[in-house]
Amino acid sequence: MLDLESLFNLSYGMCIISSKSDDKLNGCIVNTVFQITPEPPMMAVSVNKKNLTNEFINKSKVFTISILAEDTPMEFIGRFGFKKGKDIDKFQDVNYKIGQNGVPIVTDNTVGFIEAEVTDKIEIETHTLFIAKITACETIDENKIPMTYNYYRAVKGGKTPKTAATYVAKKPGVKQEKGAKDMKRYECVVCGYIYDPAIGDVENSIEAGTAFEDLPDDWVCPECGADKDQFEPL
Ligand code: FE
Repeated sequence: MLDLESLFNLSYGMCIISSKSDDKLNGCIVNTVFQITPEPPMMAVSVNKKNLTNEFINKSKVFTISILAEDTPMEFIGRFGFKKGKDIDKFQDVNYKIGQNGVPIVTDNTVGFIEAEVTDKIEIETHTLFIAKITACETIDENKIPMTYNYYRAVKGGKTPKTAATYVAKKPGVKQEKGAKDMKRYECVVCGYIYDPAIGDVENSIEAGTAFEDLPDDWVCPECGADKDQFEPL
């Protein structure tokens, strides 16, 4: 038996991994950060090869990890976890400081941070496992509780993007109920919000009876601010 959903029982923490390329900054959400050795302090992280952050780490050989707190809003997770650095500047309107290694450290919703220097890497199918020396680490707010991956999924109702190391494809053959008038309902993969054409979206002045396909291109999820392309039909 290979029940991949059982892997959700493994305990992970939610973090933002950031890096730079010349004067460009980027970051994304990872939940696969772990310490390897205490002395010297070494760590590893798995990052999808499609992520711009992966490209930046390959070039600069440095990155930072911001450990996210439990009370991090879904919109913030959506910004770093589900939007593409190729499309937006993820650091705009976000508080951060530049670390000793020149890489930004997100300070919003952050319990603590790690700065690291890549010493080795292993290419594994879709992901790169970066092995790195910890060059600095600090707790920023000891009153905050770190967010585990389980908390994100169970309490926040969070989803897993297709590029994540822990993504599990939906099982085929699961029949979902349809919205009114045969128009499909769509689910936000970031926060789980469901757009139902029979209801519309009052917050964004979308009238009932508007098909998802007819929503304006700049329409965003009323719950978390994710773009239209982060929705999947039910
Ligand atoms: Fe959403």
